[in-house]
Amino acid sequence: MSDTTNLSSLQKTPKPASFVEAKKTLSIQNECDVIVCGGGPAGFSAAIAAARSGAKTRLLEVNGCLGGVWTAGMLTYVFDFNQPGLACELTERLEQRGARIGENKRRYVYHIEEMKCLLEEMALHENIDIQLHTRVVAAYKNDANRLTNIVTESKSGREAWQAKTFIDATGDGDLGALAGCGWSFGRNEDPACPCQPMTMHALITIPNIKDIKEFVLFYEGDDDWNSWQNQARARFLDEITRAGITPSYGEPTLFHTNGNLLTLMANHEYGVRPFNAKEVSEATLRARAEIYRIVRGLQSLGGVWEGIQLVATAEQIGIRDGRRIEGRYQVTKADLLAGARHEDGVARVTFGVDVHAASQEENDTQAISHEGVATKPYDIPLRALIAKDVDGLMMAGRCISGDFLSHASYRVTGDAVAMGEAAGAVSALAAKTNRLPHEISWSEIRPTV
Ligand SMILES: Cc1cc2nc3c(=O)[nH]c(=O)nc-3n(C[C@H](O)[C@H](O)[C@H](O)COP(=O)(O)OP(=O)(O)OC[C@H]3O[C@@H](n4cnc5c(N)ncnc54)[C@H](O)[C@@H]3O)c2cc1C
Repeated sequence: MSDTTNLSSLQKTPKPASFVEAKKTLSIQNECDVIVCGGGPAGFSAAIAAARSGAKTRLLEVNGCLGGVWTAGMLTYVFDFNQPGLACELTERLEQRGARIGENKRRYVYHIEEMKCLLEEMALHENIDIQLHTRVVAAYKNDANRLTNIVTESKSGREAWQAKTFIDATGDGDLGALAGCGWSFGRNEDPACPCQPMTMHALITIPNIKDIKEFVLFYEGDDDWNSWQNQARARFLDEITRAGITPSYGEPTLFHTNGNLLTLMANHEYGVRPFNAKEVSEATLRARAEIYRIVRGLQSLGGVWEGIQLVATAEQIGIRDGRRIEGRYQVTKADLLAGARHEDGVARVTFGVDVHAASQEENDTQAISHEGVATKPYDIPLRALIAKDVDGLMMAGRCISGDFLSHASYRVTGDAVAMGEAAGAVSALAAKTNRLPHEISWSEIRPTV
């Protein structure tokens, strides 16, 4: 054997052993008009809008609660929330429950548990058929390239579901990918710097919260946080460093949620693909351990940190980047620069580009960057929410059709709500009139959402 043959055989990745699973016939669960996969900000909104438009609606969610990153991810802070429609309604409803902090309706802090209850109450009120703890794992099309059936896995085993229209609101574009749609992820052009990092949030408590005010980005609804933010973050970083820890996120942040509770955002997990369970599991374990280290480190400082305690770490690590499913329009950086306007604009995005460091080295120089993009408010057209490669499928939230930089702007939750609302209304009308989503004109919907 020559040296070259030897080397190439060494470089070959060994093929994993395979196992062929037996085919199974699944009974189809009750049919409905619209199935929404994923119950985060986008999926919840899509389901509400579809149900309010008269569609028999089912919502399938893998977590044990609705809300996605809002609740299971313990986000506590919303951006771009002054969108008309459902976002406004959520703001009012949170306010009525005393669960919203701050005067500014565009960005504010909310209480996680109140959000959880509110979403569930609203969804039940609209008679949405909710199934939690249920993951979408397969998708099937008919000969006309129309998505007709999906399969889920849960404690009930594998179940098949049928609907007239489907909405992928899984954030990571699971349904679109399973249905065979084209998709992109991270900065495709640069494999060494593939995607935005993940972040695990945590909830902490401290008896003398006033004493740490100078380290808190958003304290008791302080709306003037722009002038304050860099100082608060820098001071907090100094404190963590004083405790002997270098956090993986170079701009660690505390948000005051309510009473003596604060949200802690101090972690970055680099280069993790959300569609690789092993990578996500390892990132989750690393992130949780880092949060423990930081809180214990602050405890060891005493002084203003006396009595600090970790209340909870997020059940779901926060995923910024996922698959972006190819749609009938792709939102791009050019749209942001031009302030694009569209006849079928379903959301006007005002949030700028937020790219978090892709590696620890990058983070050490700059943890977040706007990449020099001066965003002008721009529209997301309905076409970016309609799958290009498969009929009968819409997307909402993080997984709509866009490039890396535009995604770094429109992914915030106010826009996810507006997109979900549009996808829900269009899917419902398509189902009701036996049409496909791309056959619906936005002018048929606009007055109602
Ligand atoms: C660390 C971090 C900080 C952020 N900060 C802010 C901020 O301050 N303000 C802001 O407005 N936005 C912020 N964002 C952005 C924003 O939270 C998300 O982009 C937003 O959640 C998008 O909503 P979504 O519904 O598309 O996705 P998600 O919130 O991710 O919801 C997707 C849902 O689908 C479910 N799901 C996934 N796969 C499946 C499957 N196969 N079957 C069934 N269910 C499935 C998930 O469990 C989840 O509930 C942040 C994001 C992260 C990660």
